[in-house]
Amino acid sequence: AWFEMVDLFSALRGMFRSVLTNPNLSLVFEEPEGLPRLFTDDRKLSQILRNFISNALKFTAQGEVRVSATAVDGDHVRFAVSDTGIGIAADHHAAVFEDFAQVDSPLQKRLRGTGLGLALSRHLAALLGGRVGVESELNKGSTFWVLLPLHLGEPPASPPGSTAP
Ligand code: ATP
Ligand code: MG
Repeated sequence: AWFEMVDLFSALRGMFRSVLTNPNLSLVFEEPEGLPRLFTDDRKLSQILRNFISNALKFTAQGEVRVSATAVDGDHVRFAVSDTGIGIAADHHAAVFEDFAQVDSPLQKRLRGTGLGLALSRHLAALLGGRVGVESELNKGSTFWVLLPLHLGEPPASPPGSTAP
């Protein structure tokens, strides 16, 4: 469906409001200014971002989790979820997107779930014509991102509220 990034962000903000119980951690959604409407499968995109955000909150004891959306090349958008958490060593970056892959540290072991969230996110991004990635440094933090085309497949009829071409 067509939707605005701001609407997506406010829905996510509402979802995570009750989960945020750590007073030393804030969840910030950057104002996605000047971005066109997106036509994609909003349920899949929302699931990817929820996986990124819940991981970021889980693996960050204090600081900030920041969610942003940036236009790329005029026809893509890059969503990024950055945290100030425990980080991931470079040799594990590719592996975290594999099924059941989890980083082997005592803290990671205590917090981890099934190890499928990122594998699912990678799969969902591919279904949306995009891809996922991570930039991270151990003990500094992580940025998980998803790059998506603004239109899934052929651009459908003009977005609601715009004048037809
Ligand atoms: P699930 O998502 O199925 O509940 P999970 O969170 O352990 O379980 P993934 O979301 O797939 O699994 O993440 C895989 C692993 O990548 C995690 O177990 C953790 O080791 C590492 N990881 C993911 N996100 C972060 C992050 N923001 N900071 C540090 N490590 C992370
Ligand atoms: Mg997870």
